Amino acid sequence: MNPETQEKSNSMSARFQLVSAQIDAACEECQRPQNSVKLLAVSKTKPATDIAELYQYGQRAFGENYVQEGIEKINELAALTDLEWHFIGPLQSNKTKDVAEHFTWMQSLDREKIARRLNDQRPLSLPPLQVLIQVNIDDEESKSGVALANIAALAQTVEDLPRLTLRGLMAIPAANATAEQQAQSYSTLYDAFLELQQSHPTVDTLSLGMSNDLEAAVRHGSTMVRIGTALFGAREK
Ligand SMILES: *Cc1c(COP(=O)(O)O)cnc(C)c1O
Repeated sequence: MNPETQEKSNSMSARFQLVSAQIDAACEECQRPQNSVKLLAVSKTKPATDIAELYQYGQRAFGENYVQEGIEKINELAALTDLEWHFIGPLQSNKTKDVAEHFTWMQSLDREKIARRLNDQRPLSLPPLQVLIQVNIDDEESKSGVALANIAALAQTVEDLPRLTLRGLMAIPAANATAEQQAQSYSTLYDAFLELQQSHPTVDTLSLGMSNDLEAAVRHGSTMVRIGTALFGAREK
């Protein structure tokens, strides 16, 4: 390796170790078992070579926000057969087929029409698509996700579709909330998650927490944190 590659490589490995240690420490702090929080590496805007490097350190689950960009990397890295790809961005109905054919998880489901299309388009050669319902936890008009009151109906739709498996909830809390507002949103979401689990036995995943709120999310019951910046460095856009 030339010195530049070597340096980048060292820092990626250092960041991976740091994030992993942060997750372990957050679990320990609130007396949750080690490995009760899964790390999703959010690789949007980052090259396939960065993903391949994290793969070397043992990371398997990666999240992408844009269909086309995601599929390009999935194809580029097809030789790594145990990669697990999560779609986490807004999805238009004319792109559902791409997600159904290429991804393992769909975390941003927010309407019935998308659920039905994903179910119909999921190839029979693949296991069912693992689905999270995105919740608009802070009720912001501009953001995607269902209102708390509408989780149950969409969950029932997913449960009734054989090519989808309902795994839980995902949320992107408001970035500008105070610590107190944030804690309130997290608790409300966690309650909704527990309630959903009561009626749907396949539900085991609460996808909550990004680079800036990893610890708080783990304290509030997150089982999957979605980390971009803290792993890959800052994004250009
Ligand atoms: C970009 C993104 C992330 C990662 O955010 P960071 O702050 O870079 O860790 C997580 N979840 C979603 C849905 C995203 O779009």
